[in-house]
Amino acid sequence: SVHAAVADAGIHLEIAGLTKRYGQFTALRDIDLAIREGEFVCFLGPSGCGKTTLLRAIAGLAPQSAGRIVQCGRDISRLPPQARDFGIVFQSYALFPNLTVFDNVAYGLRNRRDERHLMRQRVAELLALVDLTGSEGKYPAALSGGQQQRVALARALATEPGLLLLDEPLSALDARVRVHLRSQIKALQARLGVTTIMVTHDQEEALAMADRIVVMNHGVIEQVGTPAEIYRHPASAFVAEFIGSMNFLDCRPEGGHGLRLGEQRLDCAAHHCADEERVRLAIRPEAVQLCAQDEGLSARVDHVEFLGAFLRVSLTLEASGQALTADVAVRDGERLGLEQGMTLGARLPAEAMRLFPSE
Ligand code: ATP
Repeated sequence: SVHAAVADAGIHLEIAGLTKRYGQFTALRDIDLAIREGEFVCFLGPSGCGKTTLLRAIAGLAPQSAGRIVQCGRDISRLPPQARDFGIVFQSYALFPNLTVFDNVAYGLRNRRDERHLMRQRVAELLALVDLTGSEGKYPAALSGGQQQRVALARALATEPGLLLLDEPLSALDARVRVHLRSQIKALQARLGVTTIMVTHDQEEALAMADRIVVMNHGVIEQVGTPAEIYRHPASAFVAEFIGSMNFLDCRPEGGHGLRLGEQRLDCAAHHCADEERVRLAIRPEAVQLCAQDEGLSARVDHVEFLGAFLRVSLTLEASGQALTADVAVRDGERLGLEQGMTLGARLPAEAMRLFPSE
């Protein structure tokens, strides 16, 4: 219908009601997801959450048990991988070891029977794109891990696919190369404007690279949002805990905005259901403010860690005995004379709190 066409404008991939079972085990449960044209999306979650299975379903490598996948208005649900429009890069380099860099990149093009000189030109363009001009004659074994992944990326992009699928492409690389290649891939993706889905279990990678993050857990989507949305407004305790550091404090609701933490009363900006017996208050360590003892919740300093850019302070709240972590500027730590065993105040700004149901 006309309405559907208008609604779909700008959507590259649409997944509806997708379920994947392996025997009795449900790896993905009723997944709905729309990915926009040109978007960089990360599937993020702990091991076994189903992120690789979802990527493989999109590629046709692990056909879904139920549900639909539509790419650019075309239902691809039942198409074999070779009839779908994507390029893919795997975690382990998966280059052909007996082929040169040139032949690895040209591999996807050969099937299109491109003319020899056109192919040479195209491979040269692709290698320039991934910063490997001049490596045409080398064999994979002569390349570093990062270079091999760049060749894999060039090969995946050779046929100008509408969709680029990246299955943990950086996780086998050492930290320095990983961070460098991260920004290279991001810049390349932005330049080409190719819709990209990357699977990762590394939250920092997802926060740094994604336009939107799909947080998964136990075969379902917990939250979809920009890195800032996910970090600032986690939709569930799972997301709050999985992304970044988070304090959780067990509280008793009291009135509309009140919370009771041991003997002390706190104000909270978020509404909570007053019927709840208990709630979990979540607050990021960097949002906790340390102050004079009578200006906040009384807290004992158990441990101070110098982390270069800031201090990580482990505290125990005296009223409830609960643990609290605060990240404070080195300068503030000096001003407060931070010292193990001392007692001071911890302020929890109402606007930085999130409330979740008790477990
Ligand atoms: P990881 O980061 O460890 O790869 P993941 O989130 O990518 O985790 P998947 O590989 O998608 O997880 O697997 C999701 C679940 O499905 C896991 O519990 C896994 O054991 C199961 N699974 C995956 N492939 C198969 C298979 N071929 N047969 C049976 N179970 C499978």
